[in-house]
Amino acid sequence: MSNKSDKLTKLKEQILTDKVCPELAATATQLVFGTGNPDAELVFIGEAPGKNEDLKGEPFVGAAGKFLNEMLETIGLKREDIYITNIVKYRPANNRDPLPQEKADFLPYLQQQMAIIQPKVIITLGRHSMECFLPGLKISDAHGQPKRKNGQVYLPLFHPAAALYNGGLRQTLLDDFATIPALLELLHEIK
Ligand code: URA
Repeated sequence: MSNKSDKLTKLKEQILTDKVCPELAATATQLVFGTGNPDAELVFIGEAPGKNEDLKGEPFVGAAGKFLNEMLETIGLKREDIYITNIVKYRPANNRDPLPQEKADFLPYLQQQMAIIQPKVIITLGRHSMECFLPGLKISDAHGQPKRKNGQVYLPLFHPAAALYNGGLRQTLLDDFATIPALLELLHEIK
């Protein structure tokens, strides 16, 4: 086991030991911690697991995940190349939005998860994920614009689920995705 995956396993166990958000845990099937490559340069962060994710124990395995996979393919990446997780790691009952307190309760663990992986870019999916790291921005202005904060580069994107309901956003997301390879190349050059 790589050092990083060892640390991630310990962090996952810590969430269970600490009994984070017990009300959510009580109605969820399981903790959806995150999957993918612990050495990934790109980490994608969504909001919270939905029904399919809750059943499978993996983030983004439903319709939004399928679109995410398609977008990854357009830039020559597979799910195994990236790491993917959510802010809140249990499915809120009936797919309600996670409460601000639930996001706050999971945030220290999300921060530790990022500190272990040390990705070159954190890609936030949707407004809620963006606000965790880059509060005060408007997603309609900030999407597709990389930001550096405390030495970490972020790329805020619209949530793929939003594109499923709004056809116009689909192309915007694809266009924003298309900027990722050049951003990574630039970050390799200036390292
Ligand atoms: N939407 C999210 O924000 N996360 C998932 O894991 C699935 C859908």
